[in-house]
Amino acid sequence: MSDHDPIPFLDLAAQQARMAEPLRKRIETVLRHCQFILGPEVAELESRLAAYCGAAHCVTVSSGTDALQIALMAEGVGPGDAVFLPAFTYTATAEVPLLLGATPVFVDVDPRTFQVDPAHFAARIADVERAGRLKPRALIGVDLFGQPANWPALNAIASRAGLFTLDDCAQSFGASLAGQRLGTAAEATATSFFPSKPLGAYGDGGALFTEGAGRAALYRSLRTHGEGTTRYEVLRTGMNGRLDTLQAAVLLAKLDIFAADLAARERIAAIYDARLGNRVAIPERVAGSTSAWAIYAILLADGAERDRLQTGLKAAGVPSAIYYPKPLHRQPAYAAAHDGAALPVSEDLAGRILALPIHPDLTDAAAERVCEAVLANV
Ligand SMILES: *Cc1c(COP(=O)(O)O)cnc(C)c1O
Repeated sequence: MSDHDPIPFLDLAAQQARMAEPLRKRIETVLRHCQFILGPEVAELESRLAAYCGAAHCVTVSSGTDALQIALMAEGVGPGDAVFLPAFTYTATAEVPLLLGATPVFVDVDPRTFQVDPAHFAARIADVERAGRLKPRALIGVDLFGQPANWPALNAIASRAGLFTLDDCAQSFGASLAGQRLGTAAEATATSFFPSKPLGAYGDGGALFTEGAGRAALYRSLRTHGEGTTRYEVLRTGMNGRLDTLQAAVLLAKLDIFAADLAARERIAAIYDARLGNRVAIPERVAGSTSAWAIYAILLADGAERDRLQTGLKAAGVPSAIYYPKPLHRQPAYAAAHDGAALPVSEDLAGRILALPIHPDLTDAAAERVCEAVLANV
């Protein structure tokens, strides 16, 4: 790559070249046995993923969104239930409770780590109790951008209020908190294998992790139309929510280079921290954690500075993206469900946050170019 070639925001082709032969073998094996649904690769992937994060059970599913939905269906979450979740996250987190007839209750985030603010979570439970219309039922805590949420604090508050805890780990599989990989931080953990996530498939996919054998059995039933012990016994209303065998084969090849990918992402984040830290606000590291660095987001002084920077970066061949330009309570689809509570941090972040390219195949030289382009435009 020359000094002027555009830098890719994500480079799945370069990653594919690093595992070309094992990937081809994995895919050819599936083409030979033709068990495209729940083939042996699915079971192999589930046991490897469970071992990787130290969870007792892993159940793969069709997407991260379906993982969230199955987890809430298994708890019987529905009309009249309040599901607490951050206002500053991807849309899927709020979509799922609404699909089940429950009500999302938006919680603000920490201005430095961008993670759910535990004090505001406690305040929002009190809001719902005071209003008396909804039953506080569940928390969907999001590990945003690759870093873990403050699970010790969130779990303490949730358990006092008797809430089910679900970790939306779609962006952060591979990250750890207090030496433990994410997957056991909440009662259930949902992750996504969307191609751009740190562990991405070549299509949609997701997984659920839990310590409970009963919950895992329910997840398996729900992902296959609510089936019982025989295929034609339907015990509950479920969905068609399985992971394809071909996607499991791709993920098995990717798992072999996952540690190297995470180390490469951390190396890029360290370059950004060192070069940019005294000119713009860089993401504060969550104490005692490692990040999967799905996204590296900086904070500018205001929206005008962000606009100028994005224009300058584009001219220098450096892509950037805004996650998220609108907090969820401001989205037309969700505004009606919002109780009107102020969420000032989420609104502030949406107005001046900017994500820089970070992926395992970004070279140090390219990261330096990103830093020079940022420094020249702030
Ligand atoms: C990507 C994402 C999801 C949804 O995952 P899909 O596999 O695309 O359905 C859910 N929550 C968060 C925070 C995400 O980033």
